[in-house]
Amino acid sequence: MKPFNAFKELTGFVSRRHFMAWGAGALASLYAYPILGGTVSKGSTTVILGGGFGGIATARTLRQLLPVDHKIILIDKSATFQIGATKTWVMLGQAEPGRVVRSLDALTPHGIEVRQSDVKRIDLAKKEIETEDGSLRPDYLVIALGADVEMAGVPGLADAGETFYTREGAIRLRRILGDFTGGRIVLLIPRTPFKCPPGPYEAAMMLRSYLHERKIDQRSSIDIYTVEKAPMSTAGPEIGKYIIERLKERAIGFHPQSDVQSVDGAGRAVVLADGSRIPYDLLIAIPPHVGPRAVRESGLVSASGWIPADPGSLEVANSPHPNQIFAIGDVASVPLPGRFNPEMPLVLPKAGVFAERQGITVAGRIASDILERDLADEFDGKGFCYIELGGGQALRGDGSFYNMPNPIMLPGPANDSQLTEKKAWVDSWMAKYL
Ligand SMILES: Cc1cc2nc3c(=O)[nH]c(=O)nc-3n(C[C@H](O)[C@H](O)[C@H](O)COP(=O)(O)OP(=O)(O)OC[C@H]3O[C@@H](n4cnc5c(N)ncnc54)[C@H](O)[C@@H]3O)c2cc1C
Repeated sequence: MKPFNAFKELTGFVSRRHFMAWGAGALASLYAYPILGGTVSKGSTTVILGGGFGGIATARTLRQLLPVDHKIILIDKSATFQIGATKTWVMLGQAEPGRVVRSLDALTPHGIEVRQSDVKRIDLAKKEIETEDGSLRPDYLVIALGADVEMAGVPGLADAGETFYTREGAIRLRRILGDFTGGRIVLLIPRTPFKCPPGPYEAAMMLRSYLHERKIDQRSSIDIYTVEKAPMSTAGPEIGKYIIERLKERAIGFHPQSDVQSVDGAGRAVVLADGSRIPYDLLIAIPPHVGPRAVRESGLVSASGWIPADPGSLEVANSPHPNQIFAIGDVASVPLPGRFNPEMPLVLPKAGVFAERQGITVAGRIASDILERDLADEFDGKGFCYIELGGGQALRGDGSFYNMPNPIMLPGPANDSQLTEKKAWVDSWMAKYL
């Protein structure tokens, strides 16, 4: 028999709203989720930190696998969720900001307790989480806190640059682009890793179409300055070459291995490490990504800046509580078995499709441990992405990142039906989980 760990709420959450939401959810779940095969549950608790791609997928999958007396609590500082891809659509006026966000409270009727709170600290040894509203000691813990983005990571960038990588930034850029009458647009990728490796490139191509539709493309230029050697380098040279060709066709300048030192907002120029200055009229940046503050300050990150996790089980490396603590999605650093250059180890790129599949994996592993049934699966490193090319076209790339001797991703055909499929993927994701 595995040990039974009673759930302890050390100080409790005092909000009446939290209490009422949980009450309604628990009631609903009594009707919605019968006990699987008559198994008697241990009445344990899983806490999921982060209600993004990974956290939502974990919560919904786990709820389907477990009896109602197993408590599932999801904590997020934000009240809402938005799929990353829709931020680019918002920036370009292709989607309304209010229509692409969903309240996390939509999880409550599915038997998941949602708490809006800021996670401050995580103590793995004690399995204790400190939030702004109190502390928790669950039996199982899933860390799915994503990545923090910090414009301040490059001197001068926060004051001078814009970004569509945040919800607020995309809304702001939509207004700025609406007033844009032409000029030099510089798209900056100053640091790696960043989420959705094709994201900046598809945004540049979509921006080219946007400028064309607004009849200001003749008096505008788009240049990408990136620290990368090639786009999507972990996915292999083939897809990178493909993207560079598409950029060229669209007269988008591609400047790899650009070592950005600072941004001179007053002089409207990006300053590179070799001293050269890149003038701009509109600066759009992919902000430097860092591990969330709570995990950094709790000492959970390795030298990589992220939480090291096992490639198959997603268990936090060297976890003091085997089978009970997991890190998934952007917050995790997952080593890949293969590489292109023997000197250069690789890690799994940051993408929502991986976070979702990892969430499903850890839900199976937790349920397996609780129910003592064989529901455990291993994450297989497979994923896909749709890359938009502008002009109503997209392509799908299917990748196998645990492939040996190196990861592989091949571009499929580019056409309008791939864009339709991408939109359907976004809609169906929201419909399935929220
Ligand atoms: C423009 C853009 C386009 C993208 N396109 C795609 C795409 O086409 N396909 C794809 O697969 N991926 C895409 N992505 C990437 C994708 O959005 C992320 O990789 C994905 O969201 C990661 O999921 P996650 O669960 O790890 O983190 P997230 O979804 O970021 O969720 C983390 C959650 O943790 C919460 N949180 C953080 N810190 C705290 C704290 N201290 N306390 C409480 N809560 C906290 C956050 O509020 C957030 O809700 C795109 C991203 C962007 C920006």
